[in-house]
Amino acid sequence: METFQNLGLNKDLLDAISDLGFETPSEIQQKAIPVLLEEERDLVALAQTGTGKTAAFGFPMLQKIDINSRTTQGLILSPTRELCLQITNELKLYGKYCKGLNVVAIYGGASVTEQAKQIKKGAQIVVATPGRMKDMISRNLVDISKIQYSVLDEADEMLNMGFYEDITDILSHTPMDKSTWLFSATMPKEVATIAKKFMYEPLEITVGNKNESTSNVSHEYYVVNGRDRYLALKRLADANPDIFSVVFCRTKRDTQKIAEKLIEDGYNAGALHGDLSQNQRDLVMKSFRNNQIQMLVATDVAARGIDVDDITHVINYQLPDEIETYTHRSGRTGRAGKTGVSMVIVAKSEVRKIKSIERIIKKQFEKKEIPSGMEICEVQLMSLANKIHNTKVNHEIDKYLDSINELFEDTEKEELIKKFFSVEFTRFFNYYKNSKDLAVSDSNSSDGGRMSTGNDTRYFINVGRKDGYDWMSLKDFLKEVLELGKDDVFKVDVKDSFSFFNTEKENEEKVLAFFTDFKYNGRFVNVEVSDNKGRGGGGKRDRGRGKRKGNDRPRGEKRSRRSNDSGFQGGRRSDRSKKGRRSASDRPRRSRRK
Ligand code: ADP
Ligand code: MG
Repeated sequence: METFQNLGLNKDLLDAISDLGFETPSEIQQKAIPVLLEEERDLVALAQTGTGKTAAFGFPMLQKIDINSRTTQGLILSPTRELCLQITNELKLYGKYCKGLNVVAIYGGASVTEQAKQIKKGAQIVVATPGRMKDMISRNLVDISKIQYSVLDEADEMLNMGFYEDITDILSHTPMDKSTWLFSATMPKEVATIAKKFMYEPLEITVGNKNESTSNVSHEYYVVNGRDRYLALKRLADANPDIFSVVFCRTKRDTQKIAEKLIEDGYNAGALHGDLSQNQRDLVMKSFRNNQIQMLVATDVAARGIDVDDITHVINYQLPDEIETYTHRSGRTGRAGKTGVSMVIVAKSEVRKIKSIERIIKKQFEKKEIPSGMEICEVQLMSLANKIHNTKVNHEIDKYLDSINELFEDTEKEELIKKFFSVEFTRFFNYYKNSKDLAVSDSNSSDGGRMSTGNDTRYFINVGRKDGYDWMSLKDFLKEVLELGKDDVFKVDVKDSFSFFNTEKENEEKVLAFFTDFKYNGRFVNVEVSDNKGRGGGGKRDRGRGKRKGNDRPRGEKRSRRSNDSGFQGGRRSDRSKKGRRSASDRPRRSRRK
């Protein structure tokens, strides 16, 4: 197995690597680091987001520059302020034992004077966004005439954002004999042009297929009537109680509108788009990083900087105009070795676009149906039951227990459990009991799985994403242990700490018998028959559509005032008390995960 030691890195860097807890170099690091350390040459490296590209150029650059000199020797250009700051922070961590190292970030929306002051102190490495960099060069606030290494990070994004001329301009101020390292997730024509124009016989390294999406991400699409898009979004969120997601819209207006609606409906949502001030964007990102926002509604451009590792779902509320953009969207999840799901909500007329995307990402989509109201109620209930089961008792409550016990003196355990869970369940049940079925039949279906036949059984199983499963691996696992055939396990639906799946009714006995005493990682795996069929359960027509309006939310009470008080939400503070049902039930929110 390849180790960081074998790559030729010095002790200062290896010590930092061990502090960071990196065990083995990623593929792009294995391929790029030794070459960059040994040779002075240009490089084009293509690898998906989340594959560790920063370290692939960062370590060689840190090792090769002269830290005793104050001259600027390395320049890294990156598309957004967020990325710029992230790279700067990463480099500081990688170089924590390189005494005297000074890495400075240069980006728009912050004080030029302050940044110029930092540079003046002597920065061996400058990390910059093209716009601000060009500005500072023209004002003689930074000197890049002696740099030896230039990095174009996320080159495809920079070109997408129209930075071609700025980049050309900036590079014209750099020496001819420097090395240029270009990193990109995809290789569109524009990137090839840049490579040709600015680089000399670059070595090309590719990890995975060009333009291919990360293998940790599974792709799903949901066909709905165009007018049901928003309802579908809410159901997808409700069906995944631990969701931590980016929701992509096509325009700034839609982004703002959807975020506002979600907030009004009681979700922890926030908007991220170009019409917000830098300060507002920072606040939203901070809340997102802290998990105070579970659904970040964003435009493609604004989302470019998002580099949060544990995003569970990407939801394409609308497909992007350019289908290539889909790769970038879905790459926001499934990072750093975790699994993720990219969901697309489409109208019937857009289904053919799914085919085009499949060709680009070289992966199949799974066609799924928007969960029915009753399925959601069950998911929410089981999620709560699991959380309670896993909760550590806080003994601070001991002193109140006497009075609580007194109150429930005559209540049987069973009754108590029923009452307790009804508190949560009734909320969702009342919302969903008359809700309509959002499923739309789609004749072009490429459904790899199977639909319910009416003669099947749905099961609940208490393993989920937390145990490292996604729907494919859980399906494989079930097929194997149950000794069932290829299509005998279907409608596998993996949640955070539990899942659902279906088999034909004739296999029910076998399944239940097998799981009566089956242990996994030392704990019993519990499988039970679920009342739902894996959608279509309570498919009654909605009688009151359009009537319920703003009060239309099952979630409300869960939210705390905290997310509201921080004043993001696209510059608009939704006044929650106006709904009149918030104040009494507002309470500290449950932590999102674990
Ligand atoms: P990319 O630029 O390819 O999108 P990053 O450089 O931002 O990816 O790295 C993604 C995450 O993986 C970061 O949190 C980084 O600290 C982490 N990481 C990078 N290299 C390794 C490694 N060899 N082992 C473990 N984690 C790593
Ligand atoms: Mg990167």
